[in-house]
Amino acid sequence: MKEKLTLMIPGPTPVPERVLNALSKHPIGHRSPEFQSIVKKTTESLKWLHQTDSDVLTITGSGTAAMEAGIINTLSKGDKVICGENGKFGERWVKVAKAYGLNVETVTAKWGEPLDPNQFKKLLDNDEDIRAVILTHSETSTGVINNLKEIASYTKLHKKAITIADCVTSIGACNVPMDEWGIDVIASGSQKGYMIPPGLSFIAMNAKAWEASEKSNLPKFYLDLKAYKKTADKDSNPFTPSVNLYFALEEALKMMQEEGLNSIFNRHKKHMEATQRAIDSIGLKLFASPGFGSPSITSVLTDNIDAEAIRKAVKNNFDILLAGGQDHLKGKIFRIGHLGFINNRDILTAIAAIEASLDQIGKLKSPLGTGVATATKILNQE
Ligand SMILES: *Cc1c(COP(=O)(O)O)cnc(C)c1O
Repeated sequence: MKEKLTLMIPGPTPVPERVLNALSKHPIGHRSPEFQSIVKKTTESLKWLHQTDSDVLTITGSGTAAMEAGIINTLSKGDKVICGENGKFGERWVKVAKAYGLNVETVTAKWGEPLDPNQFKKLLDNDEDIRAVILTHSETSTGVINNLKEIASYTKLHKKAITIADCVTSIGACNVPMDEWGIDVIASGSQKGYMIPPGLSFIAMNAKAWEASEKSNLPKFYLDLKAYKKTADKDSNPFTPSVNLYFALEEALKMMQEEGLNSIFNRHKKHMEATQRAIDSIGLKLFASPGFGSPSITSVLTDNIDAEAIRKAVKNNFDILLAGGQDHLKGKIFRIGHLGFINNRDILTAIAAIEASLDQIGKLKSPLGTGVATATKILNQE
């Protein structure tokens, strides 16, 4: 029954009915007072979500547009930067930085392991010329959460460097207090924790980032953030934005405010724990290092079972879409997205579907229902 597809991938994520209804309206003029009031409201709510007094700008484009904007607006050709790389999205940062002629040094960790903050500290302590530390907070490809707080604290002590963070699967899932942690640039995208379809991205810039932008000489036009800032100050956009996605954004942010930041973070944490323990209880392995699992996504190592066979069975039998492994992890891991509009029912259903599918392909090692029982115990806790 194809109409009832449940997305449990780390983006696009499920969209609430309230948000779908908000989308299905006639567009309005993007220079109208009605639209300006939406821009004003969503901008204020975005600052609330980022826990910042700095600017949060909305770009029509996917998350990568915000990542690219972060680089080209704050840096110059030949600038020395450190990129954290422990998965596909860390690799993307390196690619963007190199595409613009930056002098990239990488701090790497094995896929599945977190970046070591001390490696950043060492490089920063020994080089005054570093202009930026660039990293992914929640590395979606592996399900690892990096210690952004600690890494940003070292950048803060450096004379010139700013922190540029991809928080695409951490904003709206766990605590990312931009001002408190001193993160200078944060990129995120609509189809993840925001609970709206793909097409908008968000870039937060603090005073230090704007200061850096004064010196930046990389080419830019559509993603020139000064134009976005100038128009945002008048509750507008430099170009025609995706008007209907703004309707959706307004409604989704309203839902988030109704739930409250702490409730959102606690819900994701609980779903992460329930998923991790359930997976462990049915004899599958967690791919992320213990204590470094992302609140948005759990990667499951399937050892001698073909991960794609599990994923296919879950899709065919239950219309639940799980994510596969990327690159060398294809067939070795599958990933369960529990980001955004996800409730306890979704978690129990996903675990049950995985157990049932393993049973069907003759690979279930635990008594049927073990994973559901384990997840239930976590979900029932206060
Ligand atoms: C989804 C995602 C992105 C953005 O990808 P787009 O396809 O451009 O929206 C960036 N970083 C991470 C960690 C992601 O999960």
